[in-house]
Amino acid sequence: MSVRVRFAPSPTGKIHVGNGRTSLANVLFAKAQQGTFVVRFEDTDLEREIEGAEERILNDLEWLGMVPAESPVHGGDFGPYRTRERAERGDYEEALKKLDAKGLIYECFVSKEELDMMRKIQTSQGLPPRYDNRHRNLSDAEKEKYRAEGRKPVIRFKMDEDAVIEFDDMVRGKVRFEARNLGGDPIMIRDNGIPLFTFAGVVDDINQQMTHVIRGEDHVNNTALQVLIFKALDAELPAFAHMPMLLDTDGGKLSKRLDSLSVSHLKAEGYLPQAIVSYMASLGFGDAPVIGSIEEVAKQFDFGRMGRAAVRFDIEQMNRVNAQFLHQMSYAEVKDMLADFLPENHDEDRAGHSRMEAFWNAVRENIVTLKDVQEHYEVCFGDMPAVTLEDEDKTYIATAETKLPAGPYTKETWGEWVNLLKVETGRKGKGLFMPLRLALTGQQHGPELANLLPVLGEEHLRQRLKQASQ
Ligand code: GLU
Repeated sequence: MSVRVRFAPSPTGKIHVGNGRTSLANVLFAKAQQGTFVVRFEDTDLEREIEGAEERILNDLEWLGMVPAESPVHGGDFGPYRTRERAERGDYEEALKKLDAKGLIYECFVSKEELDMMRKIQTSQGLPPRYDNRHRNLSDAEKEKYRAEGRKPVIRFKMDEDAVIEFDDMVRGKVRFEARNLGGDPIMIRDNGIPLFTFAGVVDDINQQMTHVIRGEDHVNNTALQVLIFKALDAELPAFAHMPMLLDTDGGKLSKRLDSLSVSHLKAEGYLPQAIVSYMASLGFGDAPVIGSIEEVAKQFDFGRMGRAAVRFDIEQMNRVNAQFLHQMSYAEVKDMLADFLPENHDEDRAGHSRMEAFWNAVRENIVTLKDVQEHYEVCFGDMPAVTLEDEDKTYIATAETKLPAGPYTKETWGEWVNLLKVETGRKGKGLFMPLRLALTGQQHGPELANLLPVLGEEHLRQRLKQASQ
């Protein structure tokens, strides 16, 4: 059977490094197995739903190179790809009928206040809070009485409290749970008629023929419960992989930083999609990130080698990976993304003459994110800040101007020029280079001057040298 996996976000937020990593694990697994990657929206939480979230999620995934083969937008043979649409079609009703025929579901009228009270008492007795299954065996008359009070029931799943649940996890190995520790009979349908994703997800996974369920460790308890539902529906279990949690750089919970670690924010800060993918994929393996395409990353990805301990998203590491990608990218490869960080007319600078390729080659080794090109762009093409040199250095710069070879310039120009200056002035080392760097860039550090000469061009160079020598 061919591999089918899914990423099942609720349309309540955006893609960040946490859920992005879950999605990526599914994508990489699908790629490695020649399987199908599906995006299914679990729109079961009306209150938290955000207008436009679906589109943003799909756009962010696409930007990262994780295009689903099936989704509400991409279509597919297993649609619809939204829980509420599947509910309208009657998918969950049908599954409920099956469970009802086995006597495995019941209406529960317990109010929120009663549940709170139940939990308070349990906690005060030092017991873990759980629903105590008190409405399992209501008589018809009791149900009628509750209905007459205006109460609306939820539908709960009758769990065999003695059951021992075991499943194999591609990351964690054999996992074992006792049903009695799962918090009591779980709700399947809320009192507004909308299913919980724990139930809907199982029905969808069965109907959409998912072979593997890959998600975060925070779902492992849900999996135990879902295994019971799969079995109650006479379905075969998919394989499971629960990935260790991702923590913030300082080891804290990621949830506090999700805005700054959202894909849209990282994109605006100048991180490359390939770098984000590569770094996220390396988390939990102790391997160096693959500096290559998502296909190459997929070849290295193996749940069997994934560690079980929580991993940290280290922004310094992310920076290093991003820089590594940038350093080896050609101008043609980076051009479109670079444009977002530069003025609109950047390509026609200097009398319509594009020096952007030379500019890119000069600065790429000196940047960590694409945003960093802005300061270099300013240095090369903006107004020169006034530099104050010692009188001696001013004379030297005036000499340098007279010895500057005629353009156009290549990588060799710098060597020729500097040799002339050595002979003429006897200067060497810092005394030779630093006044030139200051005169040409206004900065003490920056990209190699040899690479900057072709970017600046003769006219501009002479102008800057003249200015600094006065
Ligand atoms: N909608 C669930 C979530 O976002 C999906 C869990 C799953 O992958 O089954 O957490």
